[in-house]
Amino acid sequence: GALIVIEDVSKRYPDGTVAVDRLSLEVPDRSITVLVGPSGCGKTTTLRMINRMIEPSSGRILLDGADIQQQPVNALRRSMGYVIQNAGLFQHRTVIDNIATVPRLLGWHRQRARARAAELMERVGLDASMAKRYPYQLSGGQQQRVGVARALAADPPVLLMDEPFSAVDPVVRRGLQEELLRIQEELGKAILFVTHDIDEAIRLGDQVAVLRTGGRLAQFAPPDELLSS
Ligand code: ADP
Ligand code: ADP
Repeated sequence: GALIVIEDVSKRYPDGTVAVDRLSLEVPDRSITVLVGPSGCGKTTTLRMINRMIEPSSGRILLDGADIQQQPVNALRRSMGYVIQNAGLFQHRTVIDNIATVPRLLGWHRQRARARAAELMERVGLDASMAKRYPYQLSGGQQQRVGVARALAADPPVLLMDEPFSAVDPVVRRGLQEELLRIQEELGKAILFVTHDIDEAIRLGDQVAVLRTGGRLAQFAPPDELLSS
């Protein structure tokens, strides 16, 4: 079965904007589901509803069969790593401490959290010499790697990724995409990946959900079955 099930979900903001319109979608375990569409079609709104930063106006979202509204929000967020476009790193913390943040919040001892962080740096292809650097001392691509490592730190079953590679140059982006596919192969998460780039969607997605302006689902299919339009 699917780890995340979105059932007939709509979101209307208080000003009347309908950002998501009766969306139904399933995100299976051990696969990458890509949500693709133009700016403003409701992609970020969808991710934010899944981790309960905002509430749907109607419909419901299930995690592992249970309605997320019934779950404590902290436990819910702990089961979901979140990666955003400009990494959203803590600027006043070193790379290693950024990655160790969530394990520390979970009560791990400093040493164990740092050991975990060091292991993750290796996994995402960050040289150990970067550990003591601050985010401003890293390239955009390196910052995104730190963002991915931080999201993986507590080994959540779900990864929510909001345009994580959109701000880096095309060559680096290609490397990050390949890295993500490798990580996915090794770790087998349920990944929901948001992008406006159809080529990226096709390269990464086991299945691709195409959203149209107004937040309506136009297609949901494996990349080789997408209809051009
Ligand atoms: P995307 O991630 O696909 O660019 P968003 O989910 O950010 O789209 O936005 C979807 C629509 O909802 C857009 O029309 C956007 O302007 C609108 N929107 C987003 N956040 C708010 C908000 N807090 N209040 C009102 N409208 C919003
Ligand atoms: P900021 O908004 O200051 O950049 P966030 O609060 O978004 O920081 O947290 C950064 C990262 O740490 C995000 O991936 C977020 O999901 C994660 N995170 C923060 N607090 C917790 C927590 N209590 N449990 C799980 N993950 C958390």
